[in-house]
Amino acid sequence: PWANFTQAPPDPIIGLTEAYQNDDFPQKVNVGVGAYRDDSGMPFVLPVVRQVEKEITAEELDHEYSGIAGCPSFVDLAMKFAYGEDCVPLLEGRIAGVQTLSGTGGLRVFGEVLNSFGHTEIHIPNPSWGNHVPIFRNAGLDVKTYSYYNKENSSLDFEGMIADIKNIPEGKCILLHVCAHNPTGMDPQIDQWKEISSVVKEKKLLPFFDCAYQGFASGDARIDAASLRLFVEDGHKVALVQSFSKNMGLYGQRVGALSVVADSQEEAQRVLSQLKVHIRPSYSNPPRHGARIVQKILSDEQKTDAFVEQCSSMAGRINSMRATLKQTLEDLGSSRDWSHITKQIGMFAYSGLTKEEVTVLREKHHIYCTLDGRISMAGVTSKNVKYIAEAIHDVSK
Ligand code: PMP
Repeated sequence: PWANFTQAPPDPIIGLTEAYQNDDFPQKVNVGVGAYRDDSGMPFVLPVVRQVEKEITAEELDHEYSGIAGCPSFVDLAMKFAYGEDCVPLLEGRIAGVQTLSGTGGLRVFGEVLNSFGHTEIHIPNPSWGNHVPIFRNAGLDVKTYSYYNKENSSLDFEGMIADIKNIPEGKCILLHVCAHNPTGMDPQIDQWKEISSVVKEKKLLPFFDCAYQGFASGDARIDAASLRLFVEDGHKVALVQSFSKNMGLYGQRVGALSVVADSQEEAQRVLSQLKVHIRPSYSNPPRHGARIVQKILSDEQKTDAFVEQCSSMAGRINSMRATLKQTLEDLGSSRDWSHITKQIGMFAYSGLTKEEVTVLREKHHIYCTLDGRISMAGVTSKNVKYIAEAIHDVSK
């Protein structure tokens, strides 16, 4: 019965890891997938996560189902973390929130909810995280893009962005990255966010924030949430998806939250009921363990401080690798300007390498990054940075 099932192409990001694993070259490097590695190239579990896992095991909790909306105290703490404790809509109890299957799951649920209430399209930056397109398409939305980045000079195309947002039809949904824009690593400055907020308001657009790197960008969770908080202060009724994959290193636990700011408590309740209507036939309810970890950390001041410090040390290692990569390319006598590597923030360096150069990097040097030239800085270590710089120099001179 499956004779007409054609072979699907491998996922552009996950497929890279498979190709990397099948490569037996000793100095091979995986800078494709965005998962943090320590300076020995190993996956990193935050010590505070290890500590609370022991506490959870000792409590001998049961494995009953969560509610459809997940763990309420986790959701409350996640919202405080993003919006800030003094956020007025939060204090007034008019933000509807649910636990989701990390960022990806939250994006999909809200895409479906939008679609079921008459939204036919969503506007995402060009470029954006590769999975945004299929997530929203599968939720029934037409995915359109607005200008975001100027490849010529490796910088934010702010004028193009504003001009395009002004052309989005009234009332449509616009997706914005809270911080550490994936893949470019370039964010608007706070004054630019103010301007974006006022254009979004003028056009009565619905701002949908994707927050996958809070704490991971600057090392300070408040600074990283500034764009979101500004929009909420400006009175936007935002929707927000949060992921704890990167900042807490909980990738495989699938911990995230989806929240929607409403006009009143009563409206928030109605929104919440609709989120649940979409979750129930999709995956019924979310997993418990990861949410328990985050809940334990964010409900304790000392543990939160430890988390912030450990998260900021990951950000610090990445920044030092950015500086070394750029310096090594300059020392090798590269003819290109690599200053964007240290201007960009978050997990990725949007290198500017062409598809052809990336292919040579892979075939000749066994270095695996996505075809758009996005290099996961999390996979760069003090041991392999010189090898990577030499290879980049070889393909780009
Ligand atoms: N949004 C953005 C911008 C991302 O970079 C990612 C992770 N690559 C996600 C959402 C979702 O990740 P997860 O589902 O692991 O939370």
